[in-house]
Amino acid sequence: MIDLYHDREVETMDREALRALQLLRLKKTVSSALKTPFYKNRLKDVGIKSAEDLKNLTDIKKIPFTTKDDLREAYPFGLMASDRDEVVRMHASSGTTGTPTVIYQTQGDLDRWTDLTTRSLVSAGCRKEDIFQNMMTYGLFTGGIGLHYGAENLGMLVIPVSSGNTKRQFQLMKDFGTTVVHATPSYMLYLHSKMEEYGYTLSDFRLKKALVGAEPHSEEIREKIETLFGIDAYNSYGLSEMNGPSVAFECEKKAGMHLWEDSYLMEVVDENTLEEIPDGETGELVLSILIRTATPILRYRTRDLTSIIPGKCSCGRISRRISRIKGRTDDMLIINGVNVFPSQIEEVIMKMPEIGTNYRIVVKKEGILDRLIVQTEVGASIFSDDARDMNKLQKRIIDNLRASITISPTVELHEPGVLPVQEGKAIRVVDERGGNG
Ligand code: AMP
Ligand code: ZN
Repeated sequence: MIDLYHDREVETMDREALRALQLLRLKKTVSSALKTPFYKNRLKDVGIKSAEDLKNLTDIKKIPFTTKDDLREAYPFGLMASDRDEVVRMHASSGTTGTPTVIYQTQGDLDRWTDLTTRSLVSAGCRKEDIFQNMMTYGLFTGGIGLHYGAENLGMLVIPVSSGNTKRQFQLMKDFGTTVVHATPSYMLYLHSKMEEYGYTLSDFRLKKALVGAEPHSEEIREKIETLFGIDAYNSYGLSEMNGPSVAFECEKKAGMHLWEDSYLMEVVDENTLEEIPDGETGELVLSILIRTATPILRYRTRDLTSIIPGKCSCGRISRRISRIKGRTDDMLIINGVNVFPSQIEEVIMKMPEIGTNYRIVVKKEGILDRLIVQTEVGASIFSDDARDMNKLQKRIIDNLRASITISPTVELHEPGVLPVQEGKAIRVVDERGGNG
């Protein structure tokens, strides 16, 4: 019988044993943190001079939150907690503005991360017989290299092609019979839109699964990827501050992402009061890493909005699940005073079968008013020269959007392949208002 777990003991331990393990590991993280100039003072200020000052898991609430700006301030070495000669790797975040955030890993840290990515891959149904084409960027970004080691550890045949070069992606997929790909959801859609142009059909491939992550995407996008390719797609969540991919991963049940609680301590808080909120309610995810010595990070405000899914998963894994990321606390748009999350727009348009695989949201200032423009590509067979058909479709999109976000955007319809595509994370929102709008 094929073992459905990578590490049955840890993945299915009872909650009490899990909490004991978490406390043990939290203490280790705090011990490391006390070695850094950054945390030493912060922890001392709240009366934590040694790891033994933490008596139970709720004591974590004494520790102040850590923000991205804190990590930037610690650049480049302020958060290195191990001796320089023990550190074997660094990664930096893809931060679009200003100083990046850096994390370090010892060999032991890397081994623990690899173990976790292996677990994630197994939970999404990957097996050593699979051929794994890694279309995620390799480099300082953690997406590519993170799953790479887990995939090798599992014993899959790994094709480390990295992102871009669509023609070569197709050729490798065909010639080597790729069964699993790892990519951003936007790249999966782009790939499909280019298949015909490069002379391929689905029957050229043996693809079974896509592991998609690194950027927000709706259930509608997942379904689109699954239908277009005739495969299963699984959601993969991570961030460089917490190592990268494999913080949370969907198992084969596709009922939310298991956040690996033996390795990360999670809290979901109200983004304004910073108080913990009940399961099922949406708030900001706060994470502490429990498996890294070289860069300990405690109570990190991820800015990602999610909720803890109540109840147990039928797969038997003990780690609680989080819902699909609904957006970031900093990606909410305020359009003429109305709050709009890009994810709300995506959900509406991607439900409409006429809509193609790419879209963009543009916000402009017109006089004193904000104008929201939704640009979408429509399917090749839908795009027509008949202006009346296009007008009707446009009007339906506007109606559907108004019903969801309460304001009427301008909708522009484009031919497939016209809107820009990014090699890494998709840029869906272009805010041309300047300032904070
Ligand atoms: P980076 O540190 O550059 O890898 O970026 C991490 C950020 O990417 C996270 O904080 C999320 O905002 C986003 N992200 C990663 N994976 C997902 C996912 N599966 N769904 C939604 N957003 C994601
Ligand atoms: Zn599960």
